Parts: sequence; structure tokens; C-alpha cells
Amino acid sequence: MSIRAMDCIFCKIISKQIPSAAVYEDEKILGFNNVEPDSPMHFLFVPKEHLEWKSEFKEDDLLLLGEIAAAAKKVAIEKNIFSACKLIFNIGKTGHIPHIHLHLLGGWKDKIPMRNI
Ligand SMILES: [Zn+2]
Repeated sequence: MSIRAMDCIFCKIISKQIPSAAVYEDEKILGFNNVEPDSPMHFLFVPKEHLEWKSEFKEDDLLLLGEIAAAAKKVAIEKNIFSACKLIFNIGKTGHIPHIHLHLLGGWKDKIPMRNI
């Protein structure tokens, strides 16, 4: 594990140094409740290996990004929010945690907010 990954909060969640409420797990991906939700239901999906955004990905990395989206879709269906939800990857300075993570937001009762999350 690199020094950067040792300081990474998501790597600590994956290694269970920090507890989380998992909603999805397979050999490559972990999905869990966001402890600071921006919507009634807010989950985060991360690759279990520390991976950051870069201008060029290897083919395996691109496949993994698709698998992360598929995992989020599965949870959206399970949580009954698939008909109205948002999937958001924050890139660069929009996100303060460099470890790639996909936000799944949903569960609004009325209108879905259009503001940035
Ligand atoms: Zn990490």
C-alpha cells in the first residue's frame, strides 16, 4: 500500500480501520452509506484498490469504472430509488478525496433538486 493510500479515508473504510454500513460488496468494489448524506439516501461506491482519476486509464480501470456503475444500479434497484436517482463521479478539485468514488443519491419525496451536489 502506498503512503498516499495509507492516509486515504476510503482505503481505511475498505480495510475496516474505519467502520461503515456496507450496502454492496464484491471482490473489487465496496458500496456503503455516506455518513454525511446530501439526499435521503446517499451511498458511495469505491474500488477496493486505491485508484485516482487520471487522464488515461488502463483498459482494466475503465472496465472497473463500468462495474462500479453497475454495482450502484443494483443497489438503486434494491433500495427502490432506481426510477429517480443521480450517479455522480467527482473529478479533480470538485472532490476532496482523491480515491475514485461514485455517489448514488436518491430517495427524494417530491422534486429532485437540480443544484449541484
Ligand atoms: Zn484510497
